[in-house]
Amino acid sequence: MEELLQQILQECRPYTGQGALASYIPELARQDPDRLGIAVFHKDGNMVEAGDSRRCFTIQSVMKPLLLLLALQDNGRETVRAHVGVEATGKPFDAINVADNALLAKHLNPMVNAGAILMCQLVGGETYDQRFARLLGFIRRLAANEKIDLDEEVYHSEKATGSKNRALAYLLKAHGLIRGDVEELLDCYFRACSIRVSAADLARIGCVLACHGQQPDGQRLFPAAYGRFVNANLMTCGMYDGSGDFAIRVGVPAKSGVGGGIMAVVPGRMGVGLFSPALDEKGNSLAGIRALELLSARLDLSVF
Ligand code: GLU
Repeated sequence: MEELLQQILQECRPYTGQGALASYIPELARQDPDRLGIAVFHKDGNMVEAGDSRRCFTIQSVMKPLLLLLALQDNGRETVRAHVGVEATGKPFDAINVADNALLAKHLNPMVNAGAILMCQLVGGETYDQRFARLLGFIRRLAANEKIDLDEEVYHSEKATGSKNRALAYLLKAHGLIRGDVEELLDCYFRACSIRVSAADLARIGCVLACHGQQPDGQRLFPAAYGRFVNANLMTCGMYDGSGDFAIRVGVPAKSGVGGGIMAVVPGRMGVGLFSPALDEKGNSLAGIRALELLSARLDLSVF
């Protein structure tokens, strides 16, 4: 397996030069575009890694399914479904997706920004500090890594330049979809995006989702039904408006983030974490997708 991962990285290296770093968050543009790492965490607890698999980067949108999981645990399925829809928007992750004058909960999706911003208010807690602390604690438990923490530079960079997310949040407020202080809610969202993880962390988290909440030692971290909910949402919407193409090329639930990370979930088998910060035009890690495509073909991972 280790040899296979090394081979895949060799084949994918040329692709890092074809993508571009996310530059709309200035701090992300300072990354090294040639980084490439992969980690596979098998359900029996075995980790295999290659390249920059322990290099930290910001989780960005890969936190969205984890935010959704926590919201499901804190509120149950019906309440979550009443606040956000599940249909693919077919639009970029930060699109202002308003048809006519009505913006309804069912137009939102937790895997794109408007839906994820709204989801921050569904995390249990009196204050947004408490909500963020609970999300961070949950991510640490899922990854079995207490060292996971905030990247202060990216957080401040994102907060200072996040006008589009601010516009989205105020639009949600104007349509009565969020209550309370918008800036506090946005601060929680920006911090959630700025949590530092590695490909190895994403592989472990992906594996818990692949096992519907169960860790290799048998400990259950969330109900199986919520794992199925999240995996289904990842399959249809996890790779932005490239989700259909990804389903054909790779065929497993996955989530990408503009920091260059991808978490892939191979149901009943394994989690895969990827890191390569040069992105394609949709915001997905270019070499990361290619590596997953090769891995899926060689290990027959597609669920279809
Ligand atoms: N923090 C990023 C934003 O809100 C997350 C986007 C992403 O990774 O898709 O713009």
